[in-house]
Amino acid sequence: MDSPLNQRLTFLGGGVAASIYTIIARAVWSSSELTVSVIDPTEQPPERTLCVWGAPSPLLEDAVVAQWSKLCFGYGTDTITVDLDTWSYRQYTASSLRQLAERMGPIHRITAMADDPSDESVLHLDSRPHQPVSQPASVELLQHFHGRRIRTSKDIFQPDTAVMMDFRTDQSDGICFLYVLPYSSTEALVECTAFSPAVWDVDQYAHRLDTYIELELGCSDYEVLATETGVIPMNDRSVDRNRGRNWIVIGSAGALTKPTTGYMVARCLRDATSLFVDAKRSGRMSVPSAPPSRFAWYDKLLLRIMRDEPEVVPLILWTLFKRNPIHRILSFLDEQTSLRQEVLLFLRLPWMPFLRAIVRQ
Ligand SMILES: Cc1cc2nc3c(=O)[nH]c(=O)nc-3n(C[C@H](O)[C@H](O)[C@H](O)COP(=O)(O)OP(=O)(O)OC[C@H]3O[C@@H](n4cnc5c(N)ncnc54)[C@H](O)[C@@H]3O)c2cc1C
Repeated sequence: MDSPLNQRLTFLGGGVAASIYTIIARAVWSSSELTVSVIDPTEQPPERTLCVWGAPSPLLEDAVVAQWSKLCFGYGTDTITVDLDTWSYRQYTASSLRQLAERMGPIHRITAMADDPSDESVLHLDSRPHQPVSQPASVELLQHFHGRRIRTSKDIFQPDTAVMMDFRTDQSDGICFLYVLPYSSTEALVECTAFSPAVWDVDQYAHRLDTYIELELGCSDYEVLATETGVIPMNDRSVDRNRGRNWIVIGSAGALTKPTTGYMVARCLRDATSLFVDAKRSGRMSVPSAPPSRFAWYDKLLLRIMRDEPEVVPLILWTLFKRNPIHRILSFLDEQTSLRQEVLLFLRLPWMPFLRAIVRQ
């Protein structure tokens, strides 16, 4: 049977997910077979810093804007730095992914709000927000952050090392850590991230950024080049991604952002690959199967702990990173581990908060 992808692919929403699915579609199917249209009311969606860990991804190589070979974590008075070996932590942006998608073949862009599709012969990939929810959230929090891209007068950053979670900051308003992406020894994005039920006032981020830059980074003389603010919902809701024949929900709208980390790009890459490879083989479009359900259960437990016992979370995450091999942890966060590997990780964590979260709703 001929796949509808041989003819037309229309995106309802032209953000990050649309770029990723276009890149994978063009890689799996030859460009001449594929017509891509994107409907979005904005001409240029918001710029975003999008990071991914793992083995090199040759297909996305041209969209990488920065990368790091080591990750650093901090807690109490301690820090650890781990070498990613053959892996890296890479940064893309919404625009670098969009440009790569455009270089791979023509995209017909329509600047408009998209209606629900009516032509079932065209594959519609829908990333518009507010899709029908199949299972409402039982826990809802927000990951929210404010960051400054700074340039310092002295060399203070390690350009090969990204600071992933540094909990050496004021925890009195909720779970909070600093995230640092250096672009040279004198330039970096320094972000204050929190997990809590509501976003903070600007002063709450500013106070922690000021203190961290001065005391932990040892710098009082710097220029702010840009700022970045963001909010990512953290919840356990499910969405029915299958909206109709050849109509599939993708991206954040399809609950592809991992609730406990806020990362989506790697999940979308896997989802898109599965979707298009399977379609090419079977000639039919269907929603790829979700990761094993135990991962959603782990997320639910951690979200409950974040909601009910936020004070123990920095120690849990620090212990996770300190006591386990980095590839195993990152694979686990990507839902790519076996049950045996997960048991090995859990054996090295403080158990009590998880047991309490199992009995609590
Ligand atoms: C600040 C920030 C930083 C992030 N950092 C990372 C990261 O480092 N790594 C990672 O993996 N993930 C990250 N994420 C999560 C995720 O990758 C992003 O949220 C990503 O932008 C989601 O892609 P999307 O296409 O689903 O949504 P978006 O990129 O938001 O695109 C949705 C599009 O739909 C359009 N739209 C809305 N309504 C309509 C309509 N009616 N008709 C047509 N179009 C419509 C919008 O204009 C928009 O362009 C981050 C998220 C945020 C908010």
